[in-house]
Amino acid sequence: LTDKLNNAFRKIKGVARITERNIEEPLREIRMALLEADVNYKIVKQFTESIKQKALGVEVSKALNPGQQFIKIVHDELVKVLGEKAEDLKLEPTKTNVIMMVGLQGSGKTTSSGKLAAYLKKQGFFPLLVPADVYRPAAIEQLKVVGKAVNVPVFDIGEDRNPVSIAKKAVKEAKDKGFNVVIIDTAGRLHIDEELMKELKDIEKEVNPDEILFTVDSMTGQDAVKSAAAFDKELPLTGVVLTKLDGDARGGAALSVKFVTGKPIKFVGVGEKYTDFEKFHPDRMASRILGMGDVMSLIEKAEEVVDKKKAEELQKKIKKDQFTLEDFRDQLLQLTKMGSMEKILGMIPGMANIKNASKMMDDKKVKHLVAIINSMTPQERRNHQIINGKRRKRIARGSGRPVQEVNQLLKQFVQMKKMMKQLSNPSFLGKMKNLKK
Ligand code: GDP
Ligand code: MG
Repeated sequence: LTDKLNNAFRKIKGVARITERNIEEPLREIRMALLEADVNYKIVKQFTESIKQKALGVEVSKALNPGQQFIKIVHDELVKVLGEKAEDLKLEPTKTNVIMMVGLQGSGKTTSSGKLAAYLKKQGFFPLLVPADVYRPAAIEQLKVVGKAVNVPVFDIGEDRNPVSIAKKAVKEAKDKGFNVVIIDTAGRLHIDEELMKELKDIEKEVNPDEILFTVDSMTGQDAVKSAAAFDKELPLTGVVLTKLDGDARGGAALSVKFVTGKPIKFVGVGEKYTDFEKFHPDRMASRILGMGDVMSLIEKAEEVVDKKKAEELQKKIKKDQFTLEDFRDQLLQLTKMGSMEKILGMIPGMANIKNASKMMDDKKVKHLVAIINSMTPQERRNHQIINGKRRKRIARGSGRPVQEVNQLLKQFVQMKKMMKQLSNPSFLGKMKNLKK
C-alpha cells in the first residue's frame, strides 16, 4: 500500500499548483491502492472525493509546496479515518472488568494478553489471566510462562477443559479474590470456522465482556481484512489490537481493519517483549502508511510555530557565534507563544536533543527571564561580557528579581551559546555520526 501511495505522491511532487488535472492521476492511484488493500469501494470513493475537495480548496501555504500540501491533506484524511485520537479501554477500577481476546491462531492473542496485563498493572489494575485456549496443552503452558514473565497470576483451570465454564469460574474467582480485570485468552484457528465462533459467542454470552479485542497480525494483509470482517460479524468487538508492527508492515492493515470493522484500534504490538506494546496513535500510523516517519508532524509544527526564516537566521547567528541575549529573549518570547522550547530547538538541525535546555523553562520562569533581559541596556544585551557585578545588581533591582537569578541567567546563556555553537559545527556533527557507527 505504501509503495503505491508513494508512487502517487511522486507524480505530484514537482507541480507548481494543485489543479483538478494534476491530482487526477495521484488520486486514481490512491483509489487503486486502497481497493487492492480490500478497502470497501464506497469508503474509497468517499475518501478520495474528500481528498480532492480539500486539495482543490486549499489555501497556498508558505511553508509547504503543493506536493507537500497534497501529502498533508492525504495524511489528515488518513488520520480521520484511522480514528482521530487514541481511544482508551473502557474499564472501571471499582468493578470486575472482563476483557476477551479473540483472533486467528498466531495473531498474537496470548502475547498481547500478557502485554495488556503488564500495561494495566502499571496503571494500578489487578489483572487475572485466563487460559481459555484448551485444545493445545502448549497454549495453557504458554500463558503460564507469560503470566510469570509479567508477574500476573494465571487462573488455575484444574481438569476443566470447557472454555465457557473456565471463563465463568475465572470471573467468579476474580470477584472473590479482588482482581478487577479478567483477561481471557481464547483459542484461535488458522482459519475461521463455525465451531470456533460458536465457542467464542458462548463465552461472550456467559461473561458479558466489557471489551472484546480483536487481535490481528499487521503482516497478514488480505487475511487480516477477511478475519476482521468475520469476527466483527459474529461478535460485538470493542476494539482492535494490531500486532507485529515492528516488522515490515506499514500499516495498510490498520486502515483496512478500521474501515472494515469501524472499531477503534486501541493498541499496537511492536515487538516480542512484554513492554513492546503501545497505545495506538492515528497520526503516527498515518505517517507510517505514507512512509514518512514523523516528517509530517515536523512540517506541521514548523508551519504553526516558527516561521522558517527565523529559524534559519538564528542558525546563522549561532554559527557565527553572534547569538545574543536579545536573541535569547526573542526565543523566550516565542516560547511563551507556543508552549515549548523543544519545538524551536527541534527546528535547528542537531538541536533536537537538548531536552535539558527546555526542561528548565516553565511559563513563570520564562516571564522572569524576560523581565531580567528587559532590564538590561541594549549594549549589555548585545555583549553580555560587560555585565559586571555592579550592572548585575542594577539589573536585578530593575527587574525585581534576585541577583542570583541574574547570575544564573547569564550562566545559562553562556552555556547555551557554547552548546549551540558546538552542535551546529559541522565537524562536531560529523564526529557524532561517526561515533554512532
Ligand atoms: P496466538 O496464537 O494468537 O495466541 O499468538 P501468540 O501470542 O502465541 O503469538 C504468535 C507469535 O507471534 C509468537 O511467536 C509471538 O512471539 C509473536 N508476536 C506476537 N506479538 C508480536 C509483536 O508485536 N511483534 C513480534 N515481532 N512478534 C509478536
Ligand atoms: Mg495463544
